[in-house]
Amino acid sequence: MNQKDFLYKFHKHLNKPYSSFKELIEDALILMEKELGVDKIYFFNWYPQEEILSLEMLCSGGICTPLQEEIYLNKKSTLRKNLTVRTPYISKFMEYTTMYIEVEWNSVSEKSVKKHGVLRIERTDKNKPFTKKEAMFANEIAKELSHNMSNAQSDQYYATRLKRVDALNELSKIFATSMRIKDSVGYILSGIQKYFGFDRVRLYLEDKKAGEFFDGISVDLSSKITNIKLKNLTKQERDFISGMQNKFNAGSTESYIYLPLKVKQKQLGFLVCDNLLSRVNISYEDFIYLRQFSSQIALSLDNALLFDKVKELSNFDELTGLAVRRYFDQRLKEEVYRSKRFKTPFALIVADIDWFKNINDKMGHPAGDWVLKKVSEIIKNNLRQSDFCARYGGDEITMLLPRTNQKEAKQLAVRLQKKISELKMPKQFFVDTDIEISVSQGVSVFPKDGKTYTDIIKKADKALYFAKNRGRGGVFLYEEMMAKSRKKGVIRKK
Ligand code: GH3
Ligand code: MG
Repeated sequence: MNQKDFLYKFHKHLNKPYSSFKELIEDALILMEKELGVDKIYFFNWYPQEEILSLEMLCSGGICTPLQEEIYLNKKSTLRKNLTVRTPYISKFMEYTTMYIEVEWNSVSEKSVKKHGVLRIERTDKNKPFTKKEAMFANEIAKELSHNMSNAQSDQYYATRLKRVDALNELSKIFATSMRIKDSVGYILSGIQKYFGFDRVRLYLEDKKAGEFFDGISVDLSSKITNIKLKNLTKQERDFISGMQNKFNAGSTESYIYLPLKVKQKQLGFLVCDNLLSRVNISYEDFIYLRQFSSQIALSLDNALLFDKVKELSNFDELTGLAVRRYFDQRLKEEVYRSKRFKTPFALIVADIDWFKNINDKMGHPAGDWVLKKVSEIIKNNLRQSDFCARYGGDEITMLLPRTNQKEAKQLAVRLQKKISELKMPKQFFVDTDIEISVSQGVSVFPKDGKTYTDIIKKADKALYFAKNRGRGGVFLYEEMMAKSRKKGVIRKK
């Protein structure tokens, strides 16, 4: 094949998308070895500033082997001088017939730089030195290789960029749709893990009041989402947390990115991406991308946190601070499930303020509000931590008392009634006379009076209305009501 034809073939053969630089060099060396009729071709990366030739690969007999060796290349050496003026250098000092040729390509990355390589071409037969013509041909091939390397480098660069842009677009879409914090965090982490290919991505949220971090969430290579405990962090990771600044470390054996997530100077938490398992270095570009993206991550987290807060607030009544009916029903259903499973009783008390409309009518709405607030306060302050109470509607307050029997529930209701009847209206509300405040209460217990949540509410309600009909201010167990009704023959047990 004449030289021109070969150069064309060489160019065509190497002009395809390579997934790695190494593959391109392998292909080139194999073709060159054959065409030039030589025995060995070495490829070095050349760092002129550092005066280092770093051996990458050896091609011999059509087989390429990756190698690692660093050779110091003095600025004064003849080889160095020849490489600088871009002429093939035929060494007369080597044991073999040896020729050095420079390869140079453009690297399009965060900053455009020229990169350098050196080919060392050897022929073992001492009697066959390289001719000038051969050297010029090898030089032409090296130029062609330089060209292909520049192309491959920019292809790879833009392919990665495109992938990142796709990734970020995709993630932005996810952020726009997910609202709850639990969902958001999961999506964010698996998105980052998937598109950037990190071994592990973790996120910790900060508790603003306490100034501490909550336990975090982690996503690993298998896209498995796990909860992580702060106490299980390594010392190095603890140091990250106290660092509070962007940190990037791409050492030779470990690689991680640590990114604080901030919205308008407000620290929300931080993100840690690492390749500690695969030991693959994280590129500076990935770090830059992720850092640019961190404000968007922070913003969506902030939204999600706000959403959760609003949701949490909507579980509570503004006037009394007690839970609302929907929230109570949810807890009651959970308690029915739990009590069934663990075979424990629980009690439900429904309290309703007596003649409440009267208070409103005679003393005005603010007075009614005051009474509601005070009654709620008394109830809240007299319950155990495991108990749960709610403003079920209007002037009706419900109490859920886990692991409580009839007797205990009634004692509590009587105690509440006593405390409520001691309430004194403030003078500002007086019109002519004072008003006595009392509540009527009905009590039902699980599983004796009912086995479902609707049943148990219905029974407590019935007992409450029995108390109302009995002159108000009283407490009735559903069972007591049934006993009294049977005596009177009013209600028959269903
Ligand atoms: P009973 O002894 O039979 O319960 O008589 P009652 O007057 O308390 O009757 P009922 O429980 O039906 O009345 C509830 C009243 O509570 C009606 C409503 O105007 C009033 N109310 C509901 N919500 C509020 C509130 O937030 N503030 C005030 N001031 N009043 C409220
Ligand atoms: Mg009432």
